[in-house]
Amino acid sequence: MSTHDAIPADVLVRAVRIHTLSSNSEVARAMAIRGDSIIAMSRKMDGLDGLITPRTQVIDDPSLTWLPAFHDTHNHLLEATRNATFVPVNRAHTIAAIVALIREQAARTPKGRWIQTSNAWHEQKLAEGRLPTAQELDEATRDHPVLVRRGGHMAVVNSLGLDVSGITLATPDPPGGRLGRRPDGTLDGMLEGGAQYALVHVPPLPIDEQLAGVEQSCRMFTASGIGTIRDPVVSPEGMRLYQAAAESGRLSLRVRPMLLIAPIGSVAQRIAQIDGFAMRSGFGNDRLNVWGLKFVMDGGPEGGALDQPYVTDSSFTGHLNWDPDEMAAVMQAAVQRGWRIGTHAIGDRAVRTVLDVYERVISATAPVPAAAFVIEHAFLADEMQRARAIAMGVHITVQHALLYALGGSLLRLWGPERTRPIMPVKAWLDEGADVSAGTDYPIGFYEPIRTVWGMVTRQTETVGVQGPEFAIDRATALRLATVAGAQLSGDSGRLGPLATGRLADLVAFRDDPMTCDVDQLPQLKPVLTVVGGQAVFDPEHMTASDVLQPGAL
Ligand SMILES: [Zn+2]
Repeated sequence: MSTHDAIPADVLVRAVRIHTLSSNSEVARAMAIRGDSIIAMSRKMDGLDGLITPRTQVIDDPSLTWLPAFHDTHNHLLEATRNATFVPVNRAHTIAAIVALIREQAARTPKGRWIQTSNAWHEQKLAEGRLPTAQELDEATRDHPVLVRRGGHMAVVNSLGLDVSGITLATPDPPGGRLGRRPDGTLDGMLEGGAQYALVHVPPLPIDEQLAGVEQSCRMFTASGIGTIRDPVVSPEGMRLYQAAAESGRLSLRVRPMLLIAPIGSVAQRIAQIDGFAMRSGFGNDRLNVWGLKFVMDGGPEGGALDQPYVTDSSFTGHLNWDPDEMAAVMQAAVQRGWRIGTHAIGDRAVRTVLDVYERVISATAPVPAAAFVIEHAFLADEMQRARAIAMGVHITVQHALLYALGGSLLRLWGPERTRPIMPVKAWLDEGADVSAGTDYPIGFYEPIRTVWGMVTRQTETVGVQGPEFAIDRATALRLATVAGAQLSGDSGRLGPLATGRLADLVAFRDDPMTCDVDQLPQLKPVLTVVGGQAVFDPEHMTASDVLQPGAL
């Protein structure tokens, strides 16, 4: 910690507890901010008073606990934005209610225009416990194509949706996906895995509506204390939307996008697609900075690639979306072009196969930059696969919200022995892995403080505690949900534990998340979120906004 008496502070924070979340759990009591950065920290509450001028905003509230802002390393912000503008089927508890909500939307939508639903819901919550069929959706409208999305790996279209997408009885299952069929072989409208992305193409909303949606999502996330998200599925259109949002001042948090490479077409076509991006990892600035490429190796709980069959179907072991040789060739080309790679893998077979591919790519690449290879989720990773990942320096992103929300499905489909050890966070850390935490919103919840609670308790929504031996302590959980993301995104110099010279990305609570009752954690609400020295969530008007606008200096 150091003080600097030459530069006056724009903002000075005095508090009993400023958890820096450094590796030695240092606690500061004063912090000075100028522009977008921390310029001094002190262990004494009055240690930086010399930096106060008449223009300095002093936040002197001893009841506040300050932390680095949360960094959600797997948050589908653009998907959440689409959800906010789509039919809110998450409110429905029966298939009839879903049909009624779509019918209402159809009444206000020009005929022929696509109607889509939020994907932030699960059929477990429906009385019927299953997805609707095309035939049921036809009851809502026959004049609009309808796409009912559920999570990232399941969807249902109505009959017109099948027609306009050119999906017929003769359409083969696309790579990494399946078409749902009734016992007589006719289509039921269900699109599993990558089928919706390969076969259904819905035109985008007008740009103004999309920008307003991004702004709304940012507001929701910053209100929960998030300063940075890594968006794991971004298209070139999504990249342009993020740029437009940043330029117009509507991107109030930092975004680290990943561009999706789907397993469609030849290896040469995939490499041409990567060349077409005309950039590489690290392009951008502190606000919007391209993280890397995203590959998806298997499905969700319904399609994750397992070594042993599903409990519900002894002939089914899930699916690998990529041929490993093709994946290795595309990744090799990507790494040579300076791209970082993150791959979705949840089943044990998928995790092992991705590590096989990474091993080949890494052995042909020297030197390998830090956090250049990531496995997203890595639900099932036994000691042997963990050791391989750690030896290769593969970073692991974990999302307790998935176990929380999907625990019931996983228990039914995979059985208890394969649900308990899902995301063995404690084992990963004890054995030396680089791990960071996120949520995978909108599949699960988005509040990062609930992620902290979840990693400490291993509690789920409907099936109790799963794998308590993989729970971690609270300080570690807080680090995974905040500063661990900086290492993953190559931002260690600018983000990370609170220190002089780093960006002033902060969150303040009235209760100390480090020491409050553990059951109280999920209810904790931030009272202030600061991104780059600017208050982006300040319901109590603790800051004078003119002082916190860097542009107003
Ligand atoms: Zn995801």
